[in-house]
Amino acid sequence: PETKLPKVGTTIFTVMSQLAMEHGAVNLGQGFPDFEVPPRLVEALARAMREGRNQYAPMTGVPALREAIAGKTERCYGWRPDADTEITVTSGATEAIFDAVHAVVRPGDEVVVLDPCYDCYEPAIELAGGRAVHVPLDPLTFAPDWERVERAITPSTRMLMINSPHNPSGAMLTPEDMAELTRLVQSAGLYLLSDEVYEHIVFDGRRHESVLRYPELRERAFVVSSFGKTYHCTGWKVGYCIAPPLLSAEFRKVHQYNVFCTFAPAQWAFAEMIAHEPEHYERLGAFYQAKRDRFQRQLAQTRLRPLPVPGGYFQLVDYSAVSDLDDLAFCRWLTAEKGVAAIPLSPFYAIAPEGQRLARLCFAKNESTLDAAIERLKAL
Ligand code: PMP
Ligand code: GLN
Repeated sequence: PETKLPKVGTTIFTVMSQLAMEHGAVNLGQGFPDFEVPPRLVEALARAMREGRNQYAPMTGVPALREAIAGKTERCYGWRPDADTEITVTSGATEAIFDAVHAVVRPGDEVVVLDPCYDCYEPAIELAGGRAVHVPLDPLTFAPDWERVERAITPSTRMLMINSPHNPSGAMLTPEDMAELTRLVQSAGLYLLSDEVYEHIVFDGRRHESVLRYPELRERAFVVSSFGKTYHCTGWKVGYCIAPPLLSAEFRKVHQYNVFCTFAPAQWAFAEMIAHEPEHYERLGAFYQAKRDRFQRQLAQTRLRPLPVPGGYFQLVDYSAVSDLDDLAFCRWLTAEKGVAAIPLSPFYAIAPEGQRLARLCFAKNESTLDAAIERLKAL
């Protein structure tokens, strides 16, 4: 039968996590922390449940949480979105991305994505009747080539999607990128979807170039984030979207009939956490930078060559000194035979670069987990 998503199978994250389980491998594949969420957050969640916050939340999100997000946004990016008309709480960034795409993409529209890109983008575009147009990032630095992006834009282009810090590479957009981006979306009249789920995980004193800092960009953008990344709770699936009132109104039409509202007790817990413990997100960069640095020092004792990681919690490694297998075969072999699960890059591409020998390792892990992985990787 004719199916709607003929190219889609089971996600590589699920495939590799299952393989890791079968083989008892240390799982550095799928991106999730293996340490606890902040105690205050657990307490706040339990309290919200005990205090009866267990029925439907308002469709757009609990007001206290939207106010907390507005305040946090102002602290971080110098601009305060309106909590009532510009912020919508969603069931993870995945839902926010789906809703934003469905709010504006019509049958026949094109959406430009920059490869490698996160796996949920293209299916959302296709289900909306649109078509993803893939433009590759630089194969070494993962920087966008804006001239190439410009050449991919046609009269049918409706939206451009960006992601900084970037999954899988950790690359970050620079102020120069933001200037190019502004020129481009303005001249082509595009909507922008900015996936900023790793916004607080940035290293070496870099500044996260949020689209929210730039008035000419945010007036046409959906900016998406995820508490799963910031608060070590990927399984709670709570995120949000910030967009101007007219775009938020369209976004909310989709959200309303997709999920209606997001898990209420967690919204109360995040409201408390954001307002009363800003140190958590302020220190997240330093917290992960220490993990990155330690992991990179350990990798120096292996034959895997680590690439620079400006942000996010993934380490790309070049494995060409170890194996000439393609990345899918290498990651399967590494998981099944060597006991360390990793994620290949080719599933993040429409067309992966010929001969690329890179794998993604997640370092959002306890030291003991990373130590166990390194012991096995040293033997390669
Ligand atoms: N975008 C990117 C770049 C991601 O890495 C992830 C999480 N893996 C998401 C979106 C989805 O976030 P959530 O789990 O909140 O749906
Ligand atoms: N975002 C996570 C990653 O990149 C995976 C989430 C998922 O399993 N869908 O590893």
